[in-house]
Amino acid sequence: MPSQLKLTELISEDKIQAKVKEIGKILNDKYQGEPLVAVCILRGSFIFYADLIREIQTDLVSEFFGVSSYLNSSKSSGEVRLTLDLNSPIEDKHVLLVEDIVDSGLTMSYLQKTLGARNPKSLTTAALLLKPGCLKVDCQVDHVGFEIPDEFVVGYGLDYQGYFRNIPYIAQVEGLI
Ligand code: IMP
Repeated sequence: MPSQLKLTELISEDKIQAKVKEIGKILNDKYQGEPLVAVCILRGSFIFYADLIREIQTDLVSEFFGVSSYLNSSKSSGEVRLTLDLNSPIEDKHVLLVEDIVDSGLTMSYLQKTLGARNPKSLTTAALLLKPGCLKVDCQVDHVGFEIPDEFVVGYGLDYQGYFRNIPYIAQVEGLI
């Protein structure tokens, strides 16, 4: 583990779990048992996704979509690359996109454009975290867990160079170069 880094808890495990249940309830009310394709955006959202889909009581198909923009650093490269495509078409299906964090908004905007072009019946977005001060493009997120300051965070699936995804809370990282 990068020893020069200091982690400070920003959002506790309890707060995250309560928020996941709250978003799950809203989504249950929205879909009312209709079939749903829930898309996990790899890699950072895998823990949020796993918790959230277990709160949704509907006929649900899991899909995985890989994108990358960070190239092993704490700053976005500004370019979104597709690293893994969906397994099946989403035309005429209700689709829920589950993201870990919206920072510049470039990834979310890319996802909405790319998956929206495949003509789903509906496209709903959920992100655990949003850094409102960082948005560079206009992108709308339907369900946001927490708004956070412009700080690099890790934990609950989010990483720094692959580390810290296993921390059950969200932490701010100090000491990044
Ligand atoms: P955006 O395209 O700038 O909005 O960045 C979105 C992606 O960058 C997210 O899906 C994360 O994988 C990553 N990211 C952005 N901010 C952070 C952070 O604070 N910690 C860890 N990953 C982040």
